[in-house]
Amino acid sequence: MEYTEKVIEHFSNPRNVGEIPDADGVGVIGSAECGDVLKVWIKVADEHLVDIKYRVFGCPAAIAACSVMTELAMGKHIDDAYKLTDARVAEALGGLPDNKYHCSNLAASVLHKAIANYFFKRPDRNSTITITILVDDSGSERFASEHGLSFWVECADRAVLFDTGQSDIIVRNARLLGINLAEAESIVLSHGHYDHTGGLCAVLDIAPQATVYLHPAALKPKFGRKNNKTRAIGISDSTKEMIISRAKNGKVIWTQMPTEVATGLFVTSRIPRITDFEGASSSFFVDKDCHNTDTFPDDQAMFFDSPNGLVVLLGCAHSGVANTLHYVARLSGEKRIYAVIGGMHLLNASAERIERTIEAFRQYDVQRIGPAHCTGNNAIEKFERAFSEQCFTCSVGMRIDL
Ligand SMILES: [Zn+2]
Ligand SMILES: [Zn+2]
Repeated sequence: MEYTEKVIEHFSNPRNVGEIPDADGVGVIGSAECGDVLKVWIKVADEHLVDIKYRVFGCPAAIAACSVMTELAMGKHIDDAYKLTDARVAEALGGLPDNKYHCSNLAASVLHKAIANYFFKRPDRNSTITITILVDDSGSERFASEHGLSFWVECADRAVLFDTGQSDIIVRNARLLGINLAEAESIVLSHGHYDHTGGLCAVLDIAPQATVYLHPAALKPKFGRKNNKTRAIGISDSTKEMIISRAKNGKVIWTQMPTEVATGLFVTSRIPRITDFEGASSSFFVDKDCHNTDTFPDDQAMFFDSPNGLVVLLGCAHSGVANTLHYVARLSGEKRIYAVIGGMHLLNASAERIERTIEAFRQYDVQRIGPAHCTGNNAIEKFERAFSEQCFTCSVGMRIDL
C-alpha cells in the first residue's frame, strides 16, 4: 500500500510544528523499530488543550500522524484528548501502510505522555518521603491498635494525613511518635467507612486549618452484612455534620476527579473497575435492607513519585488492588510502580483473586509491598511466598522511607 493523499498532504505541509518553551506538559517517545523520535509539548488552559506543538525525527508517516493528531486534539478537553487512539489517527489519515502503522500509534501515545506529564507534576526528586503508620489493626505494647487505618505522609516541608482510623487513638499514637498533627496541610479520606474516618474530629481539633479531601459519595449511608446481621459502617452523624460545616467554609474539597492534595501528592478519585475478577463485594450496601450493593464511587487511593519511583497508598482498596494500580499507572503515565502500601481487603478473597493480584504486582514490577489493615493473613502469606523480603507487614509505629 502506498501513502494516501492525506498522508502526503500532511507530510508536505505539517501543521503545528515547533516547540512550546513554557509548556504545561511534555511527552517524548522513541521507536526502537524504525528509529523515530517524537516529542510533544502541550499548553493547557481551563482543562483544555490550547496549544500543541511537536518535533519529529522520522518517516513521512510519523510526521503526518503528529500533524493530524494536533488537528484532532487541539481545543479538546484533556479527558477527551486522552481518548484519542492510534486507530483514530490512522483513520484520519485515510489509512497507513501496514509497515508504517506503528508511527500513527506513536502520535497518540506521545500525546498521552504529555497529558500524563501535565497532570503528574513530580515533587522534588531528591527529597525522601516518609510514611508513618499511625493506626492499623496490628499494634504493639507501646502503640494501641484498632481495626482501621491512618498513614502520616511527610515530604520536604509538607505533611498529609491519609485516613484517620476509627477513634481518637490516632492522637495518642501520633504523640508517642513525635508527630505534630497540627502540621497536617491536607487530610485525605480514602472512603466513607467508620474505620477510616472515625478519628477525623479528634484530628481537626488539633489541625483546624487542614483541608479535607473526600469524594461526596463517602457521606452516603453505608452498611455491612456479615452472618446475616446488618450494621451501619458509614461515617458517624457527628463527623458528617463536621464535614458539611467545614465545606461551607471552603475547607473541604470534593474529589470528583483526580486531585493534587499537596505539591506532587495526588488522590485518584473514583477508580474504574476494569478487571474481571474485582467486582463489587456482596457484603457492602448503601441501604439498610441490603438491596443496593455499594459500588464505592468514593474509594480512592493516594499516589506520588518518590526518588525510587511511584508509590501507591491504599485505604481498603474496595475497588480492587489491580484496578487501583491500573488507574494510577494511567494517571501517572508510569509503567512501573515502586511501592504499594495499605489495606487490600482480601480477607475472603478466592485463591484466584489473590493469584491475579500477585500478577498485577508483577506486571508493574512492584519492589515493596506493605499489606496492612484489612488485607487478611491468607493473602499476606501468599504475598510473602511470592515476593519474600520485598513484602513487609505493617503495624502501628512503623516508618517507611521511600
Ligand atoms: Zn472499608
Ligand atoms: Zn477499612
